[in-house]
Order: sequence, then structure tokens, then C-alpha cells
Amino acid sequence: MEAVETKYEVVIGLEVHAQMKTKTKIFCGSTTEFGQEHNSQVCPVCLGYPGVLPVLNKEVVRMAVLTGLALNCEIAEYSKFDRKQYFYPDLPKNYQISQYDMPICKDGWLQIGEKKIRINRIHMEEDAGKLIHAGAAGLAGSSYSLVDYNRTGIPLMEIVSEPDISSAEEARAYMEALREIVRYLGVCDGNLEEGSLRCDANISIRPVGQKEYGTRAEVKNMNSFKALQHAIEYEINRQVDIIEAGGKVIQETRLWNDEKGITSSMRSKEEAHDYRYFPEPDLVPMKVDKEWVEQIKQTMPELPVAKRNRYITELGLSEYDAGVLVDSIEMAIFFDEVVTSGSNAKAASNWLMGDITAYLKENKVKLTDTNLTAKNFMEMLDLIAKGAISKNIAKTILVQLIEKGGTAQDIVKEQGLSMISDDSTIRDIVVKVVADNPKEVEKFKAGKKQVLGFFVGQVMKETKGRAKPDVVNKMLVEELNK
Ligand SMILES: [Zn+2]
Repeated sequence: MEAVETKYEVVIGLEVHAQMKTKTKIFCGSTTEFGQEHNSQVCPVCLGYPGVLPVLNKEVVRMAVLTGLALNCEIAEYSKFDRKQYFYPDLPKNYQISQYDMPICKDGWLQIGEKKIRINRIHMEEDAGKLIHAGAAGLAGSSYSLVDYNRTGIPLMEIVSEPDISSAEEARAYMEALREIVRYLGVCDGNLEEGSLRCDANISIRPVGQKEYGTRAEVKNMNSFKALQHAIEYEINRQVDIIEAGGKVIQETRLWNDEKGITSSMRSKEEAHDYRYFPEPDLVPMKVDKEWVEQIKQTMPELPVAKRNRYITELGLSEYDAGVLVDSIEMAIFFDEVVTSGSNAKAASNWLMGDITAYLKENKVKLTDTNLTAKNFMEMLDLIAKGAISKNIAKTILVQLIEKGGTAQDIVKEQGLSMISDDSTIRDIVVKVVADNPKEVEKFKAGKKQVLGFFVGQVMKETKGRAKPDVVNKMLVEELNK
């Protein structure tokens, strides 16, 4: 790695494909639902039958425009679709409808740390089907591939960065930020493992000070952020080794193998002219109304970076807490609802990050799938703030709210969980506990003050946690010193 840092400069550009969360495909009415039976979500249009015509799904355009606005892009008033010739069995038409020289969005940027990574363009296109290589999967004697066309025609956004990224870590940070944004916009579920967000990295190196780029290799097939980072690190080292040994990097597409931790050559990289692009004759050029763009802009949600800053500067959360909450859209939405209704932000955040997250993890459920609502959670916080219930009692109430719902007030009433307000009741219990434990009293009197903790525990046990700790402490000290 030392050679890279001192001698070579790393140049990376990322092409990110995001599957859009529309209900139907980009050019037909077939559903986009994930995980259905193979080849059950198809129609003559996405199967490429002769004579059919594509009809553009307006929702796809809206999502592309929204994403373009979030990434500081210029929204093209005029754009068009083109045919990309692509002779692959996963594309039944043998061409892909994409956008070539007039994409819907261009010239944007995404802030990563101190740096602005420029975004060259965002264009819309249709996804291909999924090939399952039955032979390669190890089925004895099989030498065929299966194809699932459910994915064919699912709308994609391709977000292409300029080669402004200069390390594997920066590539990862860019990808993570992008994922957060598309998820907040609701345009993509951002699942790398399921392939709804995919990334190809164009990587090259050049001697420091050299102006022209080195020959790049494109690396595909990274299904996680970790894989992305490792693949790029591997590829940089590979290229450095080649050049250091006096060789030349070949322009090609390479596949990342996560198990082996290496990239290997897949095919020589196509140039644009290999695809023989021409304007898609079945679709008219598209004009995007400025007013419509304005309307879409009005629907822009608060983006992750802004939300994180607001949590820190306005609500006084730590950077860490703000980061964790914003990382989960569900948590952030829930938290916003609680806080805008006037609840204490710090308390709400502590519960969310502590007991609630622990419960969700342990039971492998999502917050939105539980019966906890901003409303019943707020009521619980209020009861704690008023001193009507202890934090410990609240923990058991919380589990009931999560599992069964209802209100904290009702649970307190039904199960007799409210704090003991009558001091003489507590005094009786304190006296009894002291009388029952003469040995511990002796220890206390002999100077072993930590025995107090034992007595507090006993009183809490007797009262089922319904006594105020400060009152218990005070009374115990009084009784023990008698
Ligand atoms: Zn279809």
C-alpha cells in the first residue's frame, strides 16, 4: 500500500443502479413485487413480443426527478430514450431501453466529508431478467441456464459519478450516503444484498502528477458495503503490482469474488459504440414541465444530513445518537413524531437507542411492526417525567406497549404499578427489612457502608420497584443509624 500512497493516485468513478420502488414496471403494467414465483410477473411488453409498444410509467420520471433534485442536479427539460443493443438472454427484446445522450438529470454533486463528488448524470432504464446458471450451481450434468423475467422491465435509475473518488473508503462513504438518500426519498429500498441497489466501480491508477487517466477496470458484483471496499482495495493493489512489474492494465470488466476476496476477468469492456445506441422509435421524446419539477421539489423530505444536523444543533443529541437514529428511517420518523409533540428529545432518544432497539434486535422485528406508537410512547415518557412511574417499571410497561399496545396509564392502573405516594407505607417496609436482616445491620454499623445497596434492593423487591429511590435511601439511612 505504501507504493500507492506515495507514487500513485487512485481514480474511481461509481455507476450505481437503483431499482425504483414503483408498483409497476417502467413500460408496462406488470407488478414489481419482490419474491414472487419465477416468470409470474410478465406480460407481452416486458417479454418483448413482436408488435407491442412501451408506455412510460410517469412515477418513474417523478422518482428520477426527485432524486436528481436531492443530488443537486440540473433537471433536463427535454430528454429522450435510446435503444442499447445488448444480446443477452436476460433481455428478451435483445435491446435495453435506456437513455444515452439526453439523460433526465445531469451535473449534480454529493457532499462526502469535505469533498463534493460530482455526479455526471442520472438516467432511467429498464432492468434485465435474472439468469440462473444451473450448471454452475452444481446440478450434476446440467449445462443450461434458466432465466427469470420477473425483473425484466423493473425501472432502474443509473446514477453515474465523475471520477472524483480517490479511495476505497471514500467510495464506500459515497455509496452509503447515496443509499441513505434514496431510502429517505422512498425511491429505492437500498438493499445491496437483494440487488435493489447495485454498484459498478471504475478504477484506475496513475502516477502522481500525471494528467491523463490510467487504463481503468470495471469491477462488478459487490453485494455489500464491505465487499465494495474490499474489492476496490484489491483492485488498486492488483493494478499497482502490474504497473510496478512493468506491465499494462487491460481495460476490462472484472467480477468480485467475495469468498476468495479477489477480482477476476469477466469480459473485455465494451465501449459505447459497441452498443449501437439509437433513439428509441417507440417512445416520443420527453418534455418535463418546469411547474411539475417545482411541485416535486415541494415534496422533498428532510434529507439525512440536514436531519442529523438538526438533531445535534436543535435537539442537543450527541453526534453518535443523531447518527444512529437517522440511519434508521423508521426510528427517525418515529422520533420526529414524538419530539414535535413536545416530548423530551434526549429521553426519547435514550429509550429508542436503548431498550427499544434491544427489543427489536432480540425479537428480530421492525419498529413499525410492533404496537408501539408515538402516542403511547409519549404517554409513558410523561408518566416517568411526572414521577408517576419509575424507569424500571417503565421498562416492563414498554414491553407490553410493544407487544400488546394500549396505553401506559391503563397498564399502570390494571397492574397497580404506580409509585407508592404514601411515605408511611414505605417507612413500614424499610423498618421491616432492617429488622429482618440483623447481620447486615451489624456490617453497616461496623462501617461497611456499601451494605446500603443491599437494603435498597430488598425494599425495591418488597415494593416491586414502586418506591422512590431517594425516599428509600433517606429512610434507610435514618433507620440504620438508630
Ligand atoms: Zn410486463
